[in-house]
Amino acid sequence: MQGLMMDYQLTLCAILRRAEQLFGRKEIVTRLADKSFHRYTYADCVRRAKQLSVALQQLGVQSGDRVATFCWNHHQHLEAYFGVPASGAVLHTLNLRLHPDDLTYIINEADDKAILIDSALLPLFEKFRERVGIDHVIVVGDHGGAPDGYLDYEQFLAAVDPGEFSYPELAENQAAAMCYTSGTTGQPKGVLYSHRAIVLHSLGIALPDTVGLRESDVVLPVVPMFHVNAWGLPFAATFVGAKQVFPGPHLDPTSLLEAYQNERVTLTAGVPTIWLGILQALDEHPGAYDLSNLHTLAVGGAAAPKTMIRDFQERHGLNVLHAWGMTETTPLGTVARIESDPEASEDEQYDRRAKQGQPVPLVEIRARNAEGVVPWDGETMGELEVRGPWVAAVYYKETTTGDRFTPDGWFRTGDIVTIDERGWMEIQDRAKDLVKSGGEWISSVALENALMGHPAVAEAAVIALPHPKWQERPLAAVVLADGKKATADELRAYLGERFAKWWVPDSVEFVEEIPRTAVGKFKKTVLRERFRDYVFESAADSQA
Ligand code: AMP
Repeated sequence: MQGLMMDYQLTLCAILRRAEQLFGRKEIVTRLADKSFHRYTYADCVRRAKQLSVALQQLGVQSGDRVATFCWNHHQHLEAYFGVPASGAVLHTLNLRLHPDDLTYIINEADDKAILIDSALLPLFEKFRERVGIDHVIVVGDHGGAPDGYLDYEQFLAAVDPGEFSYPELAENQAAAMCYTSGTTGQPKGVLYSHRAIVLHSLGIALPDTVGLRESDVVLPVVPMFHVNAWGLPFAATFVGAKQVFPGPHLDPTSLLEAYQNERVTLTAGVPTIWLGILQALDEHPGAYDLSNLHTLAVGGAAAPKTMIRDFQERHGLNVLHAWGMTETTPLGTVARIESDPEASEDEQYDRRAKQGQPVPLVEIRARNAEGVVPWDGETMGELEVRGPWVAAVYYKETTTGDRFTPDGWFRTGDIVTIDERGWMEIQDRAKDLVKSGGEWISSVALENALMGHPAVAEAAVIALPHPKWQERPLAAVVLADGKKATADELRAYLGERFAKWWVPDSVEFVEEIPRTAVGKFKKTVLRERFRDYVFESAADSQA
């Protein structure tokens, strides 16, 4: 027997309409390039999102077309978060830290029809403009008039009366947004978020035992809006009507601390590298900032060290909330919130908070190894698999589910974990061949292939080693070809011509041979063990 409930579609229009009806007076703040604060309200934001939606349609953007953004975190980006999907098109956020070759590939594969781009990022865009087939380039921000052939965002909006917008009847399983994930081998893969997935994920974020986002919060996402929709925070914050604060391009500790104090931020989110910088700044200037409103520093993207969680709590009274997720999981998967357990000692609680945590409602986890699904004993390791309404079912343009999805409908994460009796998951290792530096991926395979293209290199393996600031940095182990010579600096310079600067391994170590498995693959566990206590001489100091 069928239930007799309305077939109400879960779309971003429902979030936008709610914001318009209930939260019109609430504030949205952006830190501008000159460090002043731009302020407007949800009412302004909704009006402009509607204008954007109509303007895109008038430009010829059709339902299902991809509209890219190449932007920092700011209110115009938020307008695109809603304006693009409300037109039926798909918001495709581009990672501005990628190499122009990767951006070219991604834009062409996604077949983006239009792009919204920060004026400050135009020089970056010009590097690959000729190689991508984008019809319309719309320039956001103060640029003294858009260059020839480009549209100006403000003029683009001004040409439309918001009254021309009417809420469309969208289907909940229609695509709303898209984000590319780094391929472990081969090219990056597109993840297509449905309206339904984002709406349910927003509800998931608002639950008190997950992130607990609510109307009275003031949210500042440090995590870029091009990184899994800033972890879904702009959508969720709009859903609950929280004040939103966007840092613009100012992600240094002092600017963030100023913004926290100035705007009375309650909840902020980012990768551990950001918090390590903030912790250092707070330690150097104890009491310099009034952070009495700040109740949650959400950390994800890489493991939050126990010492960091403890130091924030004990030295500065600040609560770190550790969470795990992926591009493929919209991203919230697990959260390390202390469950009611009066027996647990303080140290045990810190141990727990440094784990990746328990699955959030509607996300299921299991781990599997060669013997099958592993017991939840906190000891047996297996690859983490997840399923749920905001977990990808297949990659964009792939017709088969491939080896990342199991025949019985779970997504294989590539993270090697243990799960304990209470369902607390802890990452032990990573099956995927990537380095995660400051929350952004570096493909070790791509670096190895490039190195092995150098005439003096016979073999090369790149491994991730722990790094105090970036969590991980790449080290290249290189076997030179018989009779050939090359210095570490030569090889680094060679890679520097082919990859973004921050991808280049901090160190190149020459070795006699690369250990291999029985089937001939590089045995990186052995290399990692060998270089376990390695100290990088020169640390990369910028990732931007
Ligand atoms: P991305 O798709 O770029 O968001 O990366 C997802 C991957 O980042 C996961 O599969 C993990 O390998 C890693 N990751 C995310 N959150 C955490 C965390 N809290 N602790 C350790 N690794 C994490």
